[in-house]
Amino acid sequence: MGKLIVGNWKMNGSIKLVDEFILKINKQAILALPSIFISYVHFKNPELRIAAQDCSIFDGFGAHTGEISAQMLADAGCKYVIIGHSERRKTSNSDAISNILKKLQNVVNCGMTAILCVDERYAELIDEPTSDILKNHLDKVVIAYEPISAIGTGKVSSLKDISNVLADIKNSYFGVKTLYGGSVNANNVKDILSIASVDGVLIGGASLKLEELNKICQISMCLL
Ligand code: PEP
Repeated sequence: MGKLIVGNWKMNGSIKLVDEFILKINKQAILALPSIFISYVHFKNPELRIAAQDCSIFDGFGAHTGEISAQMLADAGCKYVIIGHSERRKTSNSDAISNILKKLQNVVNCGMTAILCVDERYAELIDEPTSDILKNHLDKVVIAYEPISAIGTGKVSSLKDISNVLADIKNSYFGVKTLYGGSVNANNVKDILSIASVDGVLIGGASLKLEELNKICQISMCLL
């Protein structure tokens, strides 16, 4: 399997942009779309790999106005769900570690893969009971290291920091798949993906530019 290339559109995009991506996106990319676009994209091209940017702590269905459950996301065509993104943790009181673990459980119970984001505080994941839950689902979890200082700032972490943190996470979690995220673009991705402990990248801003995202996919394929 090649490197994982995940684009996180955050609260961006339009039907016009989505239509452009559906036609021309490199099939290696996984797109984390605003939930309003998910079923549209899946309906138009069921082969595209789609992620959601979050899910509810509640499972199934129920009286939870404004929430979207993991089950609904799976039904709409998602294969991956980002959980614990630092931008959610800043704005949502549902994103304490205990709630992130509930979301993780919901995602894997619905047959999808959780992309669990951690920042400089990644050590909190290694604490009990987090580690027990993670260890039970290692084949359905990808851990994304996204230092807050690197997200949307244009300042990528040092290659040494990325290498050390992801190696540490892999050691704690028996070789779990890892991503690095934070100001990744077509110019720096080759060096990042060349790090042994990096299995892929989570890309914010650059994933909204079709040509740049496709270029990142091509660079990653040359590294196989
Ligand atoms: C992100 O928000 O997941 C991210 C990595 O953003 P950016 O690439 O824009 O830094």
